Amino acid sequence: MSHKPRIAVHKFSSCDGCQLAFLNMGAGLLELSEQVDIVHFAEAGPLAEDYRVDIAFVEGSVVTAHDVERIQRIRANSDYLVTIGACATSGGIQALKNLAHDREHWPAQIYTHPEYIDSLPESQPISDHVKVDFELWGCPINSEQVVAAVGSLLQDVVPKDNAEKLCLE
Ligand code: SF4
Repeated sequence: MSHKPRIAVHKFSSCDGCQLAFLNMGAGLLELSEQVDIVHFAEAGPLAEDYRVDIAFVEGSVVTAHDVERIQRIRANSDYLVTIGACATSGGIQALKNLAHDREHWPAQIYTHPEYIDSLPESQPISDHVKVDFELWGCPINSEQVVAAVGSLLQDVVPKDNAEKLCLE
């Protein structure tokens, strides 16, 4: 790469736990920031979905029509897209609603104004909507997985069995 690589960390429907894998790197985060520019970190600042990056990490599942638009934009602006954690790779705990027969009644039992809730019938993994280059499995993932993924992708190496190699055992 002729420029300093840029990475972004995006959030969809999730608990934010997988983003902590970055913060939990400690000194490793400083080393990472010397190798790459972290142009967007969902927990830390405003969204930058239209910013061109080398690697986009995506936490969380798709649950709204707006999410569908967002992930398309992120994909269009990323060389590599890496899903992090069970929410992004398989729909996560929120995908339990996919199995329920009475889910259309749930918002009225929870919200004062359910008419404002506009969600898709199912919680969907990111790969249902866009090409995913690399999956990191876990709930949550850990810092070692992130370091290994960044190291491989900065060399333009995408292991075929990436998920098995880099998931929590
Ligand atoms: Fe949180 Fe687990 Fe989803 Fe990660 S995979 S965002 S830790 S619920």
